[in-house]
Amino acid sequence: LAQLYNPLNQLGYIYRQINQSLVDTEKLLTLLNEPTEVNDQPDAPDLIVTDGEIEFENVTFSYENGRGPALHNISFKVGKGSSVALVGESGAGKSTILRLLYRFYDLKPGEGRILIDGQDISTVTQKSLRQAIGVVPQDSVLFNSSIMYNIGYGKFGASLQEIEEAARSAQMHDRIMSFPTGYETLVGERGVRLSGGEKQRVAIARTLLKNPPILLLDEATSALDTTTEKDIQKALQNLVQGRSSLSIAHRLSTIASADLILVLRDGQIVEQGNHRELVAFDGIFAAMWADQVSTSNEPAPSIRSK
Ligand code: ATP
Repeated sequence: LAQLYNPLNQLGYIYRQINQSLVDTEKLLTLLNEPTEVNDQPDAPDLIVTDGEIEFENVTFSYENGRGPALHNISFKVGKGSSVALVGESGAGKSTILRLLYRFYDLKPGEGRILIDGQDISTVTQKSLRQAIGVVPQDSVLFNSSIMYNIGYGKFGASLQEIEEAARSAQMHDRIMSFPTGYETLVGERGVRLSGGEKQRVAIARTLLKNPPILLLDEATSALDTTTEKDIQKALQNLVQGRSSLSIAHRLSTIASADLILVLRDGQIVEQGNHRELVAFDGIFAAMWADQVSTSNEPAPSIRSK
């Protein structure tokens, strides 16, 4: 039996790996709309993450069929465990920054470098790079399977206890327990339909289990009700804690506590600082903030001063 069990077990593992890459591909699809054309060098080493520090060094990037550079000379650092938020109007280059860090495209020689803990990401294996990065996309797609499976594949061989712990941290446990069959509940097309906010919390739980040192977050654009918004913010706080994160923020109120906010316009960083500094600077960010505060029915959150 053991002779049969081992290969089957391996097959299960391979299946999960494929599934994982399908999910990654699907994540990519939300970040990107075309296939990746990046190849590893035959002798490429694995990325070795020590602190999870990210650095963009004079990055300029043009899409093959693009009209001009999508990014011009972008430089910034995400320090160990710190949070950097990207804001800017549609087309400013926010998703391109995330896509480049996930290495959907390699930079051309002379067009800058992207480093993680001092290693140029174009020189390491894609697999090791992507293992180090967790992605929470705007719109998470679920498998037609149990909610336990949907959270659990964040980590191969996760126990139910670990899955529950991740779901609790992601503010999803109580909701799951409200279903008659709890963690066995089928979700997806043929099961219980989860709301956008619930799906995002499942993605957060999955990423908590994956436990990557680096996070890419793409905040949902759709408006969420206040309770859901609070739950998601709490879940995200638990997720970003102790990790380096790069997020695209659509609702400026959610990035009040980011360590650094980069304001992008036409592929360039036009303002940077924390929330308090940018409001005081009274430029583009301050105008966007004033606009969101005046059109929102909710009071502006208090800003943590740094
Ligand atoms: P949004 O908030 O709408 O997602 P964004 O700030 O994320 O916008 P990007 O998606 O990074 O902006 O786009 C930056 C620029 O690159 C835009 O001019 C866009 O039209 C262009 N672009 C994005 N993806 C591609 C692509 N696959 N091929 C060609 N050009 C692209």
